Amino acid sequence: MSESSQAEAIEQAARFLIESRYVMAMTGAGISVESGIPPFRGPGGLWTTYGEPPMNGYQRFLENPKAAWEERINPTGPSAILRETVAAAEPNPGHEALVALEDMDILQFMITQNVDNLHRRAGSRNLAEIHGNSTLTRCIQCASRYPLEETSLDVLPPVCPKCNGMVKIDTVAFGEPIPPDVLAQCQQTTNRCDCMLVIGTSATVFPAAAFPIQVCESGGVLIEVNPYESDITPLCMVSLRGPSGDMLPQLVSAVQSLRGA
Ligand SMILES: [Zn+2]
Repeated sequence: MSESSQAEAIEQAARFLIESRYVMAMTGAGISVESGIPPFRGPGGLWTTYGEPPMNGYQRFLENPKAAWEERINPTGPSAILRETVAAAEPNPGHEALVALEDMDILQFMITQNVDNLHRRAGSRNLAEIHGNSTLTRCIQCASRYPLEETSLDVLPPVCPKCNGMVKIDTVAFGEPIPPDVLAQCQQTTNRCDCMLVIGTSATVFPAAAFPIQVCESGGVLIEVNPYESDITPLCMVSLRGPSGDMLPQLVSAVQSLRGA
């Protein structure tokens, strides 16, 4: 894309953001990759290197929660590597630009597929983590969340202080239903949404993929921010072809200058 057509695309996207009533963003692995967190799939991906986690992970947890927890806190292996990588990562200018859009009252709500906590660390407030948050634990009975570092792991599985239910890591395992509170929040906000930024995700993993499709089918605008074309590209009114850490700060500037004009 030439520089001038890219500037036009950014300005067009900024206009959509300003003119829409309820703007949302959906983010995926791409925005975290820019913070040094490897994706799960593809070259250099965690699962490519260490093998995919079992497709029946949730079933296995329910059958033997102690063993699942021991695997989780094992100081070697993929869980440990993910933990260390996430702890060392910092939010990047893409995360910060989304906070700026929220502060400007442009961005109303965000759905992330990432479990790395980087959006919260950057300062995002109105956020649903549809695949959970790897720094939290969650009671599978009452859905209370607790910081992992404050969860006692002396006895496994940990027990919920509120209801005595079984506590697992908040990250949603394969085969585990999306926590109903999070799913309901995503659905309610998407029902109101007339413009969605789709950032760093090919939007192919359901149920997350259903949200941009719903926005599009109800006549809303999709804006893609992704260095690569993806399955969602044909549905998008504008595609900003570049890393989100580069594109989103430019989008914030474009919104500011249009508003100031
Ligand atoms: Zn509980």
